[in-house]
Amino acid sequence: MPDTIFTKIINREIPADIVHEDDLCLAFKDINPQAPVHLLIIPKKAIATINDIASEDREVVGHLFTTAAKIAKDMGFAEDGYRVVMNCNKNGGQEVYHIHLHLLAGKRLGWPPYREI
Ligand code: AMP
Repeated sequence: MPDTIFTKIINREIPADIVHEDDLCLAFKDINPQAPVHLLIIPKKAIATINDIASEDREVVGHLFTTAAKIAKDMGFAEDGYRVVMNCNKNGGQEVYHIHLHLLAGKRLGWPPYREI
């Protein structure tokens, strides 16, 4: 799998506003925020899409969610609420082919998210 921009962020080859890092994942601010808080939580292991998640990746994928909840508590919006989203492939709106959880918070988010494009 070719390197994506997120591999370059993990390797510190390009800058990012990193808010959390541990052995398995990295979280940083989205460059084009869609909410007052918009973070991306990515595994250090490069997995292209949800379709490529293997059973041995269960720990790392579960860790993305527990990290989202930890960040939400640490940043103080866990009780008000937030949304996590992972897009898959073209129709899902995926642009970067290294799986990532979008963590959106800081305002009442619209639902459903569907918008004609
Ligand atoms: P997706 O469409 O689900 O693949 O989301 C990709 C996200 O990555 C978008 O929300 C972009 O704004 C974001 N993004 C792209 N490049 C960067 C970057 N260099 N630093 C931070 N966020 C980025």
